Amino acid sequence: MSINWQRARCAGMKITDHWDPWFLPEQMDHALAICNGGYTAGVGCPIREECLLYAQTHECRAGIWGGMSELARKALRLHKPEADWHWQTEEDALEGLDVAALIAEEESWADEGTR
Ligand code: SF4
Repeated sequence: MSINWQRARCAGMKITDHWDPWFLPEQMDHALAICNGGYTAGVGCPIREECLLYAQTHECRAGIWGGMSELARKALRLHKPEADWHWQTEEDALEGLDVAALIAEEESWADEGTR
């Protein structure tokens, strides 16, 4: 999969020690809004799906990728088949799951096949 990262909504955004909404937990709502169109009339990042799949298949566990939180992406990895790893709201990704158990749930990339 070849991804044109230059099309990303986050492309060129200046990250500093004090402004990094993709990886500073207290700022992650901003990253979710940028990815998902919260500041642009609902028009999300044009490569959101590609970004999400990249993270899911390249051990990118930390931070915001594909407009989803670490926990929501973990929910997809552990509880949905890979064919269903599409963007969804945090609420939908976590629906029906015991969040505390999900946080504690171990996952192993080695157990997930050949990616
Ligand atoms: S979906 Fe990915 S590429 Fe797009 S703005 Fe969010 S983090 Fe950046």
